[in-house]
Amino acid sequence: ATNAALPDAPVALQHWIGGVWLDSADGATSERRSPAHGVAVSVAAKGGRPEAEAAIAAARAAFDAGAWSRSSGKDRATLLLRVADLIDRDRAAIARHEVLESGKPITQAMAEIEGAADLWRYAAALARTMHGDSHNSLGPDMLGLVLKEPIGVVSLICPWNFPFLIVSQKLPFALAAGCTAVVKPSELTPGTTVMLGHLLEESGLPAGVCNIVLGYGDPVGAVLSTDPRVDMVSFTGSTGVGKRIAAAASATLKKVSLELGGKNPQVVFPDADLDQAADAIAFGVYFNAGECCNSGSRIIVHADVADALVAKVAALSRRVPFGDPLDPRTQVGAIISSEHLAKIDGYVRGAVAAGAHVALGGAALEVGGLGGQFYQPTIVTGVTPDMAIAREEVFGPVLSVLTFRTFDEAIALANSAAYGLSAGVWSRDVSTCLDFARKVQAGTVWTNTWMDGFAELPFGGFKESGQGRELGRYGLEEFLEVKTVQMRIGQTRG
Ligand code: NAD
Repeated sequence: ATNAALPDAPVALQHWIGGVWLDSADGATSERRSPAHGVAVSVAAKGGRPEAEAAIAAARAAFDAGAWSRSSGKDRATLLLRVADLIDRDRAAIARHEVLESGKPITQAMAEIEGAADLWRYAAALARTMHGDSHNSLGPDMLGLVLKEPIGVVSLICPWNFPFLIVSQKLPFALAAGCTAVVKPSELTPGTTVMLGHLLEESGLPAGVCNIVLGYGDPVGAVLSTDPRVDMVSFTGSTGVGKRIAAAASATLKKVSLELGGKNPQVVFPDADLDQAADAIAFGVYFNAGECCNSGSRIIVHADVADALVAKVAALSRRVPFGDPLDPRTQVGAIISSEHLAKIDGYVRGAVAAGAHVALGGAALEVGGLGGQFYQPTIVTGVTPDMAIAREEVFGPVLSVLTFRTFDEAIALANSAAYGLSAGVWSRDVSTCLDFARKVQAGTVWTNTWMDGFAELPFGGFKESGQGRELGRYGLEEFLEVKTVQMRIGQTRG
């Protein structure tokens, strides 16, 4: 029934450079098909070096002109609040387009857009709290001021898994700080970032303060990470690309903030509430079809309760509503691309070849005539730490189960991955939870819960999951530079 709502023709998407909507100079475009339905949903201008450089020039000119970078926090907050209201107004249309480009379920897309609007409101509040320090104990005629200034022109490079949320973890915070920006959405999901650009235009944001360039990592992302007129790159995506960006940005010593992958452990102690844990584990691995940096894809469970826990998770997994992401009952939608589907399946096949066991699922699935790509909710047991499925990000609806006997063994297993994004602990004993929270190497630790998120709380990774933090006050500080002013005062009166 929901197929009737599919678009007749794909929507055309343009770059937004210096306040003007533009096609690429060479006319190049790229088409995006719905991964769930197979139909063309957008045709985006495909940018090259000229578009990336023009956008950087526009952002640089806007920053240096000062209309935004030296405006009051009050004025910036007023505009950010207006954008939040416009997002609310258009949330149904934005969510629908997000579903068509990404394959995620419509209810999860709606929650994503609403969560993003909240980030614009939170950043508006931060814009009015920016201040530095003063030092008046430096001597009788000295005064020291520590000023916080916007860092300048920032490149914001985003992935495909939460396109609207992730641009909203960066852009409103950069704008609150007084920066100007060039945004590059993923080539797979450009549409809702373009919709956001139209809302920014409607809100009255001065031309050139935010620019959007559509296209691929090479060349657009590469230009955004190397051009000397850019002061900072804020990137969310894979660890491999993050390392390449950090290397590219080092030639001009740009500040780099990186939100990268995860292989997030959920450790279940024998005294845990297994029903609550199973519920959160099923949600944590199937949310967004597992295409989630916070996917709780690595269960480390005490051997005494492993069978009971797996049985509970499997029972829930069999009932997860699966299929057309435009159907409001669906909770697991399509996989972003056929290449990615093959990669997910490859991890499962590799684990089986290495001796693991598929307890549930483990194959691609046809969903009733939709023509898209789907993967079954999958549980792999008997996983050992040396297997690729235990160490690498699968980014699909696939749960790996490992077991432990002692607390120290659990911590060692949790910390054995190169990643350190998030971790979970399930126990009724608060001291077990706190001991785990202090010893695990992760930027976020959830105790007896999974994947809550708040605008107020910083988010980011240890180890190869990244550097820097988004959200909270830290999310603003990333975009600020510190300037020390030392003043000799009073000496002219003699
Ligand atoms: P990706 O690294 O393939 O691409 C991310 C972005 O980088 C895209 O816009 C892409 O075009 C661009 N890019 C590619 N090569 C580039 C280059 N050489 N220079 C500059 N830019 C380049 O990631 P993806 O597949 O879109 O997203 C999935 C990944 O993102 C997963 O690893 C996931 O864990 C991670 N992720 C992390 C977080 C977090 O907050 N830590 C959040 C969401 C996603």
